[in-house]
Amino acid sequence: MTGMQFRSGSEHIYPQSGLLTPSWRNMTDSANRFKLIRSGALVDGTGGPVIERAAILIENDVIRAVGAEREVRPPDGADVSEFDYPGQTVLPGLVDCHVHLIGFGDGRSGDELALLPDEILTLQAARNARVHLDSGVTTVRDCGAKNRTTLMLRDAVNLGIATGPRMVLSGRPLAIIGGHLSYFGVQATGVDECRAAVRQLLKEGVDFIKITATGGSTRTSFPFLPSFNVEELKAICDEAHSLGKHTAAHCTSSQGIANAIDAGVDTIIHAIFNEPDGRRVFKPEIAERIAERGIYVNPTLMAAGFGAGGRVELLEEKRASDGLAPDEQASLDRMYRTRDEGIAEYVAMREAGVTMVSGSDSAWSHLKMGRFQAELEANVSSGMTPSEAIISGTSDAAKSSWIDDQVGSLQVGKKADILVVDGNPTTDIRALSNVVDVFQNGNLVERHNLP
Ligand SMILES: [Zn+2]
Repeated sequence: MTGMQFRSGSEHIYPQSGLLTPSWRNMTDSANRFKLIRSGALVDGTGGPVIERAAILIENDVIRAVGAEREVRPPDGADVSEFDYPGQTVLPGLVDCHVHLIGFGDGRSGDELALLPDEILTLQAARNARVHLDSGVTTVRDCGAKNRTTLMLRDAVNLGIATGPRMVLSGRPLAIIGGHLSYFGVQATGVDECRAAVRQLLKEGVDFIKITATGGSTRTSFPFLPSFNVEELKAICDEAHSLGKHTAAHCTSSQGIANAIDAGVDTIIHAIFNEPDGRRVFKPEIAERIAERGIYVNPTLMAAGFGAGGRVELLEEKRASDGLAPDEQASLDRMYRTRDEGIAEYVAMREAGVTMVSGSDSAWSHLKMGRFQAELEANVSSGMTPSEAIISGTSDAAKSSWIDDQVGSLQVGKKADILVVDGNPTTDIRALSNVVDVFQNGNLVERHNLP
């Protein structure tokens, strides 16, 4: 057997990943235990009021105090490294709750991506991790990779071989036979295989279970139809929850969304209301149930054609320079339609009370790593205020990734993952891209790979 497919009673006994304790080797780089960061303004990531002339006191990797500059004082006699950003805004490091670290962002399909050997994909994941960190994203939730590639990357980071954001990992997504992303290594059938697959992944060190609850772009899958039945989905969710982990499900059909709600999924990804024949028909009652259950939705607006670097922009650029062939124009028109339908569903879900969490889906398909801010801009152009978009890409994204006890807000006791930008992103979201400095675990990141 090739090692590519999951079978219950599997002979693949992967050792558990994540056994390596993070060394955060940079912790010893700076002589001082305390750091004091002063800034012109501070945005805490939870929607609290902007603090003018603010300061953060960090002890090693943890925030010890946050507030007005005059109120935040290091202990008497302590040696303190000081950082001054008088004209800048300080925020929590960004949390991208949907990435694919092994992707290339060059338009290749997942079917093509999966043909690359694990060693190449792991190196690509290392490059992407670095690019995303340097762009201001200090935490990612990876929603599906081939075999153990991302788990090995995290071990490499913990060993000090590579650098990257904090990683919440799913490892291989759970798919039905031939289902979306099934080429990444797990195909499960029936309740027992589903439970066994969850146990196997958790043994290997994953933090959550990614499920493809409908088909998707995968050649052998059906994007407008559910994949697992509700019993299988329930078994996956129950098993994950009983072991203290959460689930996130890719859903591009209304029935798939309904099944995911019934099964107890924690995050619904894409949440596209497709009928089996591909028509989009928004179902308010489904949106209400998502809201009632407190399930997060990650709408992946850039993947739906919004924002810089997406396929819409590429075709618009070509139209301006060389003009478009009739089939390209038709494809662009289709994308405009899809985008408008996406905005309508996004607005309606928010009106129903659904919490939208930002995740870029990069570097899937055409989506380049290091441009998470464009996803936040897309949220603003679809109706969020800049402050709401910041929450969706910090504290709410962290909550949906079950890592909000550590990151996502500038609060006492949280890890000192901090983003410094020029300008005021609460009035102009584009200021989030004017990255000045990034701190991770209290250490200034040496940024080399600017997108
Ligand atoms: Zn994805």
